[in-house]
Amino acid sequence: MLVRFRLPSGLDIFGLPTQNFYSGNWDLGPTWNYAVMADTPFLVDTGRCGQGRNLLKAMDTAGVKPSDLGFVLISHGHEDHDGGLAELVAMTSLKVRAHCIYDLLIRQYPDLAPADFKRHFPAKCWHCFMPESFYTDNCLEYHRMLEHLEVEAVGNGTKSLCADIVTCHLPGHSPDCLAVILGEEAVIVGDILLPQISPWPTRLEMYGEIAGVLSPMFPEASEILGLQRYLRSLRQLRSLGVAHPDMKVLPAHRFYYDGGWNVVDLTKRIDELFEHHVQRCAAIVDIVSKGHRTVEEIVRTHFESALLRGPGKHMAINEILSHCELLVDQGDLFETGFHEYEASGTDRFRTLITTLEH
Ligand SMILES: [Zn+2]
Ligand SMILES: [Zn+2]
Repeated sequence: MLVRFRLPSGLDIFGLPTQNFYSGNWDLGPTWNYAVMADTPFLVDTGRCGQGRNLLKAMDTAGVKPSDLGFVLISHGHEDHDGGLAELVAMTSLKVRAHCIYDLLIRQYPDLAPADFKRHFPAKCWHCFMPESFYTDNCLEYHRMLEHLEVEAVGNGTKSLCADIVTCHLPGHSPDCLAVILGEEAVIVGDILLPQISPWPTRLEMYGEIAGVLSPMFPEASEILGLQRYLRSLRQLRSLGVAHPDMKVLPAHRFYYDGGWNVVDLTKRIDELFEHHVQRCAAIVDIVSKGHRTVEEIVRTHFESALLRGPGKHMAINEILSHCELLVDQGDLFETGFHEYEASGTDRFRTLITTLEH
């Protein structure tokens, strides 16, 4: 599939979805990469490993030559967004731009790695829970490519990508998430905001592993990680939607899914996501209010068993832990042991989520 969007100013954007081979109940659907045909045309994201060639083919169909592009911007360092980068850079010598955290986390730091077998993993993959057979089959070349990648760091709107187009650092789904704001007309949101699914939030405790790499520039975990940081990023994005209600939203997954388009209204979708997180916190508090619970017990009570097969269980644990961190911070839960909780009887999370400032 190849789709052209023409914004009112005449700016063309090509939507270039690439296959994303996850399956089951946690399926995100294809990754939507975009070619923005600005004065300096650029690409946002490159799909998964093995998709670089398909992306080039789709660009060719759209009449976009790699030599026309000024750079490729990576929205964040998840493999379904930068996996195709190796092929693309090898075939085109495209320049790469991403947030400075991406530049730091794609490198290898053998002495800081959390386990011996992860010594040659990029730091962004240290928390990976997939078995050894998975990464030896899928990731070695990807890790090698990242180690040698040259990245020009872009950040918080201070430097425009080109006239009227700026990036905005909106961490929480990952520490390096960037949104690309195209004037008052459109925003490419990566995985910060998706139709149909709630992007998974990071956890503050992930900072422990990568602190050695990030602490000189980002000394506070809460600046870049965790559900609260994610919700603050959403609040920031919401203010953009309030200022420009007609802004077109270009998400990285589920834009077109099951035979239909999912047109996103920025403020409406973000309000739905706030409500989703309020409900999830309420459900956790309800489970724990019946007595002391471990995270595993909360996960088994909260999610259907079909969602907990294979990697789904790790996704579910991450999801619950990120909410428990917020609830502990607010005093609604006490952590009585490692990932074990008791309820305090309060529900301060409601006010927090609905009134958070960015
Ligand atoms: Zn992601
Ligand atoms: Zn994604």
